[in-house]
Amino acid sequence: YIVCLGELLIDFVPEVSGQPLSDVAAFRKAAGGAPANVAAAVAKLGGASRFIGKVGRDAFGQFLRGTLEAAGVEARLAVTDTAQTGLAFVSLREDGERDFLFYRAPAADMLLEAQELDAAWFADAAVYHFGSVSLIAEPSRSATLEGARRTREAGGLVSYDPNLRPALWPDADTMRREALAHIGAADVVKVGEEELRFLAETDDAAEAERRLLARGTQALVVTLGSEGCRVVTSSRAGEVVSITVSGVPVQAVDTTGAGDSFVGAMLHGLVQRGITPTRLAECLADEATVRGLFAFANRVGAITTTRRGAIPALPTLAEVEAFGGE
Ligand code: ADP
Repeated sequence: YIVCLGELLIDFVPEVSGQPLSDVAAFRKAAGGAPANVAAAVAKLGGASRFIGKVGRDAFGQFLRGTLEAAGVEARLAVTDTAQTGLAFVSLREDGERDFLFYRAPAADMLLEAQELDAAWFADAAVYHFGSVSLIAEPSRSATLEGARRTREAGGLVSYDPNLRPALWPDADTMRREALAHIGAADVVKVGEEELRFLAETDDAAEAERRLLARGTQALVVTLGSEGCRVVTSSRAGEVVSITVSGVPVQAVDTTGAGDSFVGAMLHGLVQRGITPTRLAECLADEATVRGLFAFANRVGAITTTRRGAIPALPTLAEVEAFGGE
C-alpha cells in the first residue's frame, strides 16, 4: 500500500470564478491538501491507500475524514483540541492566477507529531509520499521526515512532491533550501517545469535536471502540463537519461489536482509493477516500462483537468480504461 502524509484542509472555492478574493460573494467547500489528493487518487484507481494527518475537533475535520473514507482511503487522522482544522480561501483571477488566503495560526494539520505515527504503517508500506507544506514548521516537519526515514529503513520507496509555488509562500528562498535538502531523502521527486527552474536556479532545463539529480534522488519526474512529462534518471555510467512521454489532448476546464492525480497514478503504477528502491533505476532504464507507466499517469492527469475540483475530479480505473489508450 501507499502511505501519504501531510496537510489536510478545507479549500473554500468561489461559486463564480474570475473575481479577486475581495469580491467573491459565495464559496463552496472542498477537501484540500496535495498529499490527501494523492491518497485519494490511488484509492480511486483501485490501489490500497492510507493517509496520515491531523484535524481539529470540529465539523470540518469530520468532513475531511468522511471525504477521504468515501474516496476509499484508510485515514489515520489524529485529532487535536488545541487548534482547528486548516482553512484556505482560494480564488481564480481572470489571468488564471490563483489567490489564496490561509487561516493557519497554526492549523491542526501542522501539529502532527512524529510520536503519533503508527510504526506498523511504515514497516509494510510499499511507498511513502510527502510534500512541502508539512515541512514549513514543527512539529509536522519532524513527523514528515520521520515517515521518510522509517519507510526507507523498512525498504519502501519514498516519493516527494516539493510543490513549491514561490508566489504563494512568503519566504521562497527558505522553502527552496528546505526542498533541496529533502530531494535526496526521496527515490522519486516530481516537479513542475517552472518549479524545476526555480529550485535549481537556472533557466536551462537540462542543467536544472542535472543539479536536482545530483542531490541524490533516483528519478526526477518533470510535469509539462498538456505536453505530458519528462522522466529523468542517471544511467549506471553516470549520464543523464531523459525520456519524454507525450500528454493526452483534452478540453481542460480546471487543472486543480492534475499534478496530484498524476503522482497518484505514477505511484500506483510503480506498486503494481512491484518496483522497490533497489529496482527503481533498473526499471526506469527500460524505455517501454517508462512509456507504459507514464502514459497511464498522463491519462489520469488529463482526465482530472476535464472536471472541476480536485478529489471530485479524480478518475476510477474503469474511467481511465474507457478513456482509451493502452
Ligand atoms: P503540476 O504543475 O501540478 O505538476 P501539471 O499541470 O503539469 O501539474 O499537470 C500534471 C499532469 O497532468 C501533466 O503531466 C499531464 O499529464 C496532465 N495534464 C495537466 N494539464 C493538462 C492538459 N491541459 N491537457 C492534458 N493533460 C494535462
